[in-house]
Amino acid sequence: MSEVAVVGGGIVGISCALALQSEGHQVTVMEPNTVGEGASWASCGCIAVGEIVPLSQPGMMLKVPGWLLDSEAPLSLRPSSALKLLPWFSRFTANARPSKMRAIASDLARLTFSATADFKAQLQDIGEPEMLIERPVIKLFDDDAANATMGAAFDLARELGCTIDEISGHDAHELDPAIAPDFKYAAVLRDWSYVTDPKRLVEALHQTFLKRGGTVKRVGAVGFDREGRKVQSVKLTDGTEFFADQFVLAAGARSKGLAKDLGVPIRLEGVAGYSTALSDPGVELKHTIFYPKGGFGVTPYDGALAVAGTIEFASLDAAPNWNRADVLVRRAHRILPGLKTDVAERRVGYRPFTPDTRPIIGRSHRLDNVQFATGHGQLGLTLAATTARLVADNTAGRRLHVDVKAFSPDRFS
Ligand SMILES: Cc1cc2nc3c(=O)[nH]c(=O)nc-3n(C[C@H](O)[C@H](O)[C@H](O)COP(=O)(O)OP(=O)(O)OC[C@H]3O[C@@H](n4cnc5c(N)ncnc54)[C@H](O)[C@@H]3O)c2cc1C
Repeated sequence: MSEVAVVGGGIVGISCALALQSEGHQVTVMEPNTVGEGASWASCGCIAVGEIVPLSQPGMMLKVPGWLLDSEAPLSLRPSSALKLLPWFSRFTANARPSKMRAIASDLARLTFSATADFKAQLQDIGEPEMLIERPVIKLFDDDAANATMGAAFDLARELGCTIDEISGHDAHELDPAIAPDFKYAAVLRDWSYVTDPKRLVEALHQTFLKRGGTVKRVGAVGFDREGRKVQSVKLTDGTEFFADQFVLAAGARSKGLAKDLGVPIRLEGVAGYSTALSDPGVELKHTIFYPKGGFGVTPYDGALAVAGTIEFASLDAAPNWNRADVLVRRAHRILPGLKTDVAERRVGYRPFTPDTRPIIGRSHRLDNVQFATGHGQLGLTLAATTARLVADNTAGRRLHVDVKAFSPDRFS
């Protein structure tokens, strides 16, 4: 069994670390911050099996001027970051053609369709099976226009095997009485489920990893030492090097620079989102609710609620715009009229997004002992356990349950 270094302790990195540890490897995670504090804590907590239609949609380029001007819109582009993001963004919008969208959705479905089973196995392994709430997620629509926009995405998802029922807004209110009764339509996404708190989930994975003998080094990676096709060590911010037999790159939105140092250029940017936990929401929800027009979702936490979402294209060095989090909380009254908004905690997360919305999983043909586990965009929580299974199977030389060619780190060069 070998010594493995995992760079990055988000939901993806810690899941890979646990899976490799279960195979008998000695695993060390390099994480400069608190495990999970990156994008993972800010997540809505959904196992979003049907979230397979890419974020890049036809006609997006025409909307850019509006995004630049309205910093409170559900989708926005920070003017100060626009130039920096341009190369990534033009590739992102180039993927909005129907044929490309179908191919991406179909590739993502191959991963998400095993996500619930992989996630359940992971929760069972750490003794926390009750963290998964197997209830569908509900999306709410005010009018025909909003419903029609989502309709095309729903049709594609259905064609690929997702189960989505359309019901009236009144029926949605009956299912979850806290929901305002006056929505015109609702969609029930039957394949989805949610976790009671992504922060608690990552902490449980982290604690299990430590109890089983894993190590977390509170230090960042700055690069790698390589000889030919083999990486010898990861160079760390404290000036030391960590030597290992195998390496996993799972530094979320910050993976791009490290990949470049490995000689494997990848295209990746962080897409910001915000999450606000409300300590005493005054309403009880049974389902996670999404309001696409407002660009957010509301997830029931243990005894509380979190309002999370928005897509903000802002470079990683841009400071968080907390106003966007506050706007979401105000808008949440539209769907939950009885909501009390005492803020317990606000979180920001940079979703690691590739221009084709596909994650980056597996080995580059240039390196023998490095695996990539990053670029999961809006699906990191959903796909962490599946990615960990693929990384562990790859390390063991077992046949993979999914062909990972479409997720190769080499596809960008
Ligand atoms: C508002 C919001 C809602 C979301 N909702 C959902 C949802 O419902 N379902 C879903 O599946 N996904 C959701 N997501 C997406 C999901 O949160 C991300 O895809 C996921 O967290 C990515 O995990 P990660 O481990 O790759 O990245 P991160 O959680 O960002 O972890 C990367 C880690 O790498 C560390 N790191 C960075 N640089 C270095 C370095 N140089 N050396 C070592 N370590 C480093 C960071 O400190 C960080 O801890 C949501 C995201 C947001 C923002």
